[in-house]
Amino acid sequence: MTKSLLADPADLAGIASAAPQGKEAHGHFADSHGRTVDYLRLSVTDRCNLRCMYCWSSEQMQFLQHNDILTYEEILRLVDLVAEMGISKIRLTGGEPFARKNILHLIQQMLQRHPHLDLRITTNATLLSGKVQALKDAGVRCLNISLDTFNRQKFQNITGRDMLRNVTRAIDEALALGMKVKLNAVALKGINDDELPVFINFARRNPVDFRFIEFMPMGQCNRWTQDNFWSAADILATAQEHVNLTPLGHGERKAGPARLYGIEGGKGRIGVISPMSNHFCNDCNRLRITSDGRLRTCLFSDKEYSLRPLLRNPKLGERFVRRVLERANRNKPLGYKILQKMREHTVADKRMNAIGG
Ligand code: SAM
Repeated sequence: MTKSLLADPADLAGIASAAPQGKEAHGHFADSHGRTVDYLRLSVTDRCNLRCMYCWSSEQMQFLQHNDILTYEEILRLVDLVAEMGISKIRLTGGEPFARKNILHLIQQMLQRHPHLDLRITTNATLLSGKVQALKDAGVRCLNISLDTFNRQKFQNITGRDMLRNVTRAIDEALALGMKVKLNAVALKGINDDELPVFINFARRNPVDFRFIEFMPMGQCNRWTQDNFWSAADILATAQEHVNLTPLGHGERKAGPARLYGIEGGKGRIGVISPMSNHFCNDCNRLRITSDGRLRTCLFSDKEYSLRPLLRNPKLGERFVRRVLERANRNKPLGYKILQKMREHTVADKRMNAIGG
């Protein structure tokens, strides 16, 4: 069961008195474990045009009603607030961000209001072609593109759609325009492990970070089995058989949870993100807000704080959202402790499309 902190004004009165006044107002958004949070993953929709095997299940998927997701005006109010509180980097995610109408308009508005914001987008890139120049002009700094295979048939098997060509076209456009590109593949043993040399070659020839994400047992997805798990350690050991990898020092890393490696004679790098085998909770600097305005402070925790009713209540508004953000952030857990207890279960109740991957 998902636990929500509902926006009951009586409850909020308690929050108001408990909130430390002023500290975060100076752009320092710290939690009780000494971590400074400056990064928000903001989901703009739970809808997606792909049906990825690890994100989707055969049962009927329920999507949010249009009225339940945050309007662009509400998203902009939230962004104004978190920027003032010390969030300097925002990643738009989903569902598929480009599946939401007029998303470019939202992006332009965000960057006009906050020109120094480090705004990035995580996308499956199937709807991206033709939009890269406008994104670059708006000030988007980086595109994270999810791509699990370069094989057309396999792409169709994994995603349920024959759209690989759309993705590769968009990647070509982004690279031609000099946009920073990170490619993310979910590491799937028995499914895309045979393509490791192809991925490495791509990163050798192109200035991209090609990152492998360990498969996480999310939500009620029924396609996960332990046999599909391909650990970061395994990936690196196999990669070393094909190419000389140089671990990049901390100064060069700046890659968040990814551990990055230079490829001998290559333009790009490869990386691994290991939420399952090697936690990065101690350095976690992020919050998530779902498309219906629920704040989640840890990917591994189902605890949510519903911000939408506050935003929609003229008597509460930003002042109370701020207090909930402050309190929630102070209670941000160490995710690996949750994971240890949940070994046998799924990582979170929801699927990635609903949380905002
Ligand atoms: N539609 C966008 C995209 O494809 O990047 C954003 C949302 S998607 C849910 C974000 C990322 O989460 C994708 O890279 C996807 O592959 C990853 N993802 C989804 N389910 C996952 C799982 N169970 N384990 C690991 N990664 C997962």
